[in-house]
Amino acid sequence: MSAAAAIPDYNAKSDEDFRSEVRAFVEREYPPQLRFILQRARWHEMKGWWGKLYAKGWIAPNWPREDGGMGLDAGKMLIYMEEFERHGCARPPDQGITQVGPLILRFGTPAQKAWYLPRTLSGECIWCQGYSEPNAGSDLASLQTAAVIDGDDFVINGQKIWTSLADDATHIYLLVRTDKSAKKQQGISFLLVDMKTPGIQLRPIVNLAGHGEFCQVFFDNVRVPRNTLLGQMNDGWTVAKALLGFERLGIGSPRRPQYALRRLEAVARAKGLLEDPGFSDRFIALKLDIEDGAALYGRFVEQVKRGEPLGQDVSMLKIWTMETWQRLTELLIEAGAEQGVVAGVQDVAGVETDFLNPFYYSRPATIYGGSSEIQRNILAKYVLKLPS
Ligand SMILES: Cc1cc2nc3c(=O)[nH]c(=O)nc-3n(C[C@H](O)[C@H](O)[C@H](O)COP(=O)(O)OP(=O)(O)OC[C@H]3O[C@@H](n4cnc5c(N)ncnc54)[C@H](O)[C@@H]3O)c2cc1C
Repeated sequence: MSAAAAIPDYNAKSDEDFRSEVRAFVEREYPPQLRFILQRARWHEMKGWWGKLYAKGWIAPNWPREDGGMGLDAGKMLIYMEEFERHGCARPPDQGITQVGPLILRFGTPAQKAWYLPRTLSGECIWCQGYSEPNAGSDLASLQTAAVIDGDDFVINGQKIWTSLADDATHIYLLVRTDKSAKKQQGISFLLVDMKTPGIQLRPIVNLAGHGEFCQVFFDNVRVPRNTLLGQMNDGWTVAKALLGFERLGIGSPRRPQYALRRLEAVARAKGLLEDPGFSDRFIALKLDIEDGAALYGRFVEQVKRGEPLGQDVSMLKIWTMETWQRLTELLIEAGAEQGVVAGVQDVAGVETDFLNPFYYSRPATIYGGSSEIQRNILAKYVLKLPS
């Protein structure tokens, strides 16, 4: 484990001091060739940076200090995220830190904590999330991948899909059905599985942009010990649901639309498009939409800083930010005209721009983390209290 005992109490620092320290470290240490990249970063690109963060004790800002994290409070955590985003740092395959690590901390046995947590921090265990199946996405509780107890083992059969960066992962956290007779949400368990276990097969899926971002994962009589169960048997839904709210706030940050706007403005200026009243109207409308999104984000950030839990209304932020981002990438393509539909980096009057990649990258943003339709259902039901 990193030198957790030596990790200072960052919450005792002023926001300004903490921000300067994070900014200086990120600017000095983050690999410049990986700034503002448009596709998901892969492990081979990120492991050097991971190692630097780990050595400094900064790999897990959200974990308690006694477990090797930074123990940041919500306000400091947001500063940390803002500084990484400001510098255009890519997201490493970090689901161990952001997702399953906190679940192991909360639900794990002492033996599970002792084995998984230090390895997750050091990057020896890289995790992927095995929730979705071909007929279980928005309606996740319909999942069919089954685990049956046989002696001291579970035997798993079934299939997962859209498993991000599964081919970089050493481990997968899985939702499996362990009781077919129980009501949908109740017969599900949560397992921690080594990807090298015999019977697991990966089939990469190439996305629209040509990147191998996710995989199908097949389980054919995969035998894992019973101590891979996290939490109680048939109570995996409770484990999985424990991570909400703050995650949706992270997705709703206005940074991505802001980057896209900067790019669009550079192209528009280079081509004199801002002189065109039609273009200019649409550009200004989008700029104002980003301002609205940023104000909304600020409101939720203040709520978190006050220590208040986020409500269902945070769904509004995800819809607004992601849909604004998509409209911006559409206008970027229009601004590029004939170059806007050519793959790769284009030179537009001296401004180098990749038009198609931001468009492709923004498309799934209204699907992952809960689709826009599902977020609208949540708002209708829980915030507006409309009849169903
Ligand atoms: C880039 C990306 C990365 C992903 N990574 C992972 C991962 O690592 N691990 C993992 O487990 N999953 C992952 N997913 C899967 C993601 O969680 C699912 O795609 C998502 O839950 C939607 O499920 P689905 O694709 O089966 O679509 P469906 O649920 O079949 O939905 C299809 C369409 O119907 C709409 N719809 C569905 N139900 C309703 C309803 N009740 N009311 C109104 N409209 C509805 C949806 O909004 C959508 O437009 C990823 C997806 C993407 C795009």
